[in-house]
Amino acid sequence: MELLAKGYRDEDLGRRILSRIRGEMDGAPTVRLMEVCGTHTMSIGKLGLRRAIPYNLVLLSGPGWPVCVTPGGYVDAAADLALDGITVITFGDMVRVPGSRTSLERARASRGRIVVASSVTAALDLARNEGGDVVFLAVGFETTAPTTAAAVLTASREGLNNFSVLVSHRLVPPALRLIMDDPDCAVSGFILPGHVSTIIGTEPYEFLADEFGVPGVVAGFELIDVLVALESLVHMIRSGAAAVNNAYTRVVRTGGNRKAEEIMAEVFEVVDTEWRGIGRIPMSGLAVREEYAAFDAACKYGIQVGGCELPPGCSCGSVLRGVLRPAECPLFGRRCTPQQPVGPCMVSTEGACAVSYKYGEK
Ligand code: SF4
Repeated sequence: MELLAKGYRDEDLGRRILSRIRGEMDGAPTVRLMEVCGTHTMSIGKLGLRRAIPYNLVLLSGPGWPVCVTPGGYVDAAADLALDGITVITFGDMVRVPGSRTSLERARASRGRIVVASSVTAALDLARNEGGDVVFLAVGFETTAPTTAAAVLTASREGLNNFSVLVSHRLVPPALRLIMDDPDCAVSGFILPGHVSTIIGTEPYEFLADEFGVPGVVAGFELIDVLVALESLVHMIRSGAAAVNNAYTRVVRTGGNRKAEEIMAEVFEVVDTEWRGIGRIPMSGLAVREEYAAFDAACKYGIQVGGCELPPGCSCGSVLRGVLRPAECPLFGRRCTPQQPVGPCMVSTEGACAVSYKYGEK
């Protein structure tokens, strides 16, 4: 009730929650929490929460930003398609991210046709209206995968044979399992992603509490959303409890969005896949089902995607697993800055390294 009455940006309420967190952490051993999603990383940076919370409460950034975990081979393959005269459409951050041997920015400079769009609908429109081959480079997690799947169904229904998708969708829960399975893992709780959870609900995270005894809280992105999640996690950890809670009930339902999940299941199958800098994670990716192979750019153009390695010296893989903080990378703020990024976590505005640089860890 307090929350609803005051609003999600109320600073007085924020101060009171912070004071309760400080009280709970007073004299306690260090607690390390991971914010899984890049949008949370951005909110926490913008709000200056890393400086406001007690010294023994550490926030680590996780693997939830698509630009950072998409293998460079997808960028290379999309750049090759563009240079072959095919129109490639993707989200803005993907244009700057380095592939293994090139980038979309470079392909564009060499007259490759790269179009930036905020959704796959623009790719469908282009395919309908312009006639040439159009490939949508589809990155992202459970949040964006349903729209890619819906676009494939639309293209199939309309017989839009010049449209296809190069799919690099990833699933969040298997990545969290990988983090917990790591013997070096120091994470004692998770701020779980709000957007992804609108699709999958809360059940897919329950293994964190059941198998690893680690709590998780699904959170929104405003000041009070994040602080409520932190307080709930700190309270559970300090009292030895572990559960997966939903603190974003105004948007996320426990059962998620069944319709979106059905559309995804119709078009995609779940497969083992590579995450850039992290490696292969079982059952963590989506691939277009054979029934829709005509709309799968990998099949259509015979693409074999490789290139999961990071640029030399880049520690993004350790940053994304919460093993290293961005400022602990030897290149951070020296050879690697937002103006001249070396690795993918510095390219995206919501990448852990870019946020750390912008909001004061340099
Ligand atoms: S600072 Fe740059 S090189 Fe280091 S981990 Fe981050 S993106 Fe990679």
